[in-house]
Amino acid sequence: MSEQYKFMLEEKKIPKAWYNINADMPVPPAPVLHPGTMQPVTPDFLSVLFPMSLIMQEISQERWIEIPEPVREIYKLWRPTPMYRAVRLEKALGTPAHIYYKYEGVSPVGSHKPNTAVPQAFFNKEAGTKALTTETGAGQWGSALAMACNFFGLDLEIYMVKVSYHQKPYRRVIMENFGAQVYASPSDRTQFGKKVLAEHPDSPGSLGIAISEAVEVAATSGGSKKYSLGSVLGHVLMHQTVIGIEALEQMEMAGEYPDIVIGCAGGGSNFAGFAYPFVHQNLTNGKKARIIAVEPASCPSLTKGKYTFDYGDAAAMAPIVKMHTLGHTFIPPGIHAGGLRYHGMAPSVSALVDHGDVEAQAVNQLETFEAAVRFSRSEGIIPAPESAHAIRVAINEALKCKQTGEKKVIAFNLSGHGHFDMMAFEQYHHGRLTDFEYPAAEINEAMTHLPKVVV
Ligand SMILES: *Cc1c(COP(=O)(O)O)cnc(C)c1O
Repeated sequence: MSEQYKFMLEEKKIPKAWYNINADMPVPPAPVLHPGTMQPVTPDFLSVLFPMSLIMQEISQERWIEIPEPVREIYKLWRPTPMYRAVRLEKALGTPAHIYYKYEGVSPVGSHKPNTAVPQAFFNKEAGTKALTTETGAGQWGSALAMACNFFGLDLEIYMVKVSYHQKPYRRVIMENFGAQVYASPSDRTQFGKKVLAEHPDSPGSLGIAISEAVEVAATSGGSKKYSLGSVLGHVLMHQTVIGIEALEQMEMAGEYPDIVIGCAGGGSNFAGFAYPFVHQNLTNGKKARIIAVEPASCPSLTKGKYTFDYGDAAAMAPIVKMHTLGHTFIPPGIHAGGLRYHGMAPSVSALVDHGDVEAQAVNQLETFEAAVRFSRSEGIIPAPESAHAIRVAINEALKCKQTGEKKVIAFNLSGHGHFDMMAFEQYHHGRLTDFEYPAAEINEAMTHLPKVVV
């Protein structure tokens, strides 16, 4: 029998509303605290950085939030995205399992990130914002926001983690093509960047440091610039749920429902975007899919971090949230999955892991690249090193099915392609890529700098 390989939705099937998991959280979220007073933040404080419409989305308890028509119009450039059944990978593994993946690498910049970049630029434009600041790790977020700002006529200043700025120079050029200004972080353009450089002239940078720089520029701009974040926050995760809403419908087309749902997790946005609509089914519709978030073993916030209050950024200027954290001063090793090098995790993902609704696993760099190469040899797509973390666990689960003979349905999110990660793949093929030891000493040290919150 010949199998169907891909499941496509018509353009009119682009979702009309985002799914807001706040409405269904089994445990109420902890309050977001002001970094100075350590008291719950007011919308006023947040409005220095964000337009009120996004702040209202952040705290909304409505289950469905309408997607504005101008945003759906731009979504049409790449949405709905395809869902594939990895028939050739199943055969290569010799597994009775069925493996499905949702492919977000078909967006113009090659990842899921534009799903939130476009609405963030839209809501800022609507609120009268003229310019945005942001950080970027591997450059995926920066290129997505640069594209979105260009569509809406907003200026954009980007702080790019230094190690990626040098490893992935072409991502910077993409951002510049869209008219953005890109600086390697730590930079000498901010007080915090100067402080880091004075203490560690060779600092490779980190997402936490780059966030601090972008936040500082917006917060000290006298209102002329707002700040935009590519992950972690509730509204960002919510914008990404177009992925899982489409995937639910595509699984229905395939006539199957996943037993296992998998996504890689850096700040948690592509994981949540893909998985939350399935979590919704678990929480409210009697479904029992296992939901797995996968992180790098060298930056294991969910599997080894503490579920506690910590700052969102390295400089302790961003709000304090309750999340799984390795300590805001922790600088993760320079693995190639730059988008997964963040000390914390989205509060809702953290709460769901803590409550047992979501499982977390950590995988090493070498086994991740092995999975990436194996996947491309069957499916033809070269995955981003970040996405390959999800592939690793999907393959592990499929191989378990081979042992037990179980015919499980496994679905994962392929968050982006790896066309700008060729240096990493080259190093892998030449045996020059290594695993990083779990950086226990650095993490233990960082954990001594947690804010002393009294709740
Ligand atoms: C940024 C990025 C990630 C990690 O970010 P999340 O917010 O955890 O999704 C994963 N995959 C790709 C391709 C990315 O660009």
